[in-house]
Amino acid sequence: MNTKKTIEAIIAPPAPHMVGDGFRVHGFFPGGRIDKKRMSPFFLMDYNSKVEFPATDQLRGVGVHPHRGFETVTIAYNGRIAHHDSAGNSGVIGEGDVQWMTAASGLLHKEYHEESFAKKGGLFQMVQLWVNLPAKYKMTAPKYQEVTNNSMGKHQLNDDAGIIEVIAGEYNGTKGAASTFTPIEMYNARLKKDAKVEFKFPVSYNTGILVVEGSATINGELAKTDHFILFQNDGEYINVETSEDTILLVLSGEPIDEPIAQYGPFLMNTMEEVQQAIRDVNAGKFGVLED
Ligand code: MN
Repeated sequence: MNTKKTIEAIIAPPAPHMVGDGFRVHGFFPGGRIDKKRMSPFFLMDYNSKVEFPATDQLRGVGVHPHRGFETVTIAYNGRIAHHDSAGNSGVIGEGDVQWMTAASGLLHKEYHEESFAKKGGLFQMVQLWVNLPAKYKMTAPKYQEVTNNSMGKHQLNDDAGIIEVIAGEYNGTKGAASTFTPIEMYNARLKKDAKVEFKFPVSYNTGILVVEGSATINGELAKTDHFILFQNDGEYINVETSEDTILLVLSGEPIDEPIAQYGPFLMNTMEEVQQAIRDVNAGKFGVLED
């Protein structure tokens, strides 16, 4: 029998806060009804809903800071974002692109509005996810995947209903561009008005959908712009219908069933490992990066 996933909650965007001076984000999780393991392997989701930034000559964003034990995945919908890290990687992403940065054993990085975008100002909209790593990969070497829109798998839907951009995982035979350490499905569903589309994920996977643009009826319930739909771990199927042009960020992944110890930018299994991370940063073991 084809069983639908029950909607556990449709969550309105929490009040925004600033991350540095460049990111005005709704912290969907962890927090509220989604505790630190509820969406595992996704630990954190910050959503910068669409906002106009005025022109500036300042460097706008978040200065040099460390990470260890996980990956940051930044998805741009509007505006341009630059990244530099102490592993020597850097890049700029624009609308439709993704930065998949594996901090793993540790690095320093900075993330900010790309200079020419900042000088002009304009609409800015992005998502940052923190994707946890299992213990056996937490201390592997850092890496960086620039997942440009061109490099993503693109599944054209029937009846001109739109396109599924596969950032990671696989949709109906179309593979994603990013390599992941644990099974993860991550898509941008760019749907036209009157589209009908179905997703299928294992019962055990933690699954949610962010409505980035437009609105959609999802397993029978209407979800509006900037809302997050959290599914129970019961059925497999998700049915989506649109009555306007809509963009959905679809997330599903196999949970990592390990203890979580988090402090600031460190996501480890024990507090001793977090304290070691702090000692290693102070000892200069995360490398060097200029402000
Ligand atoms: Mn960061």
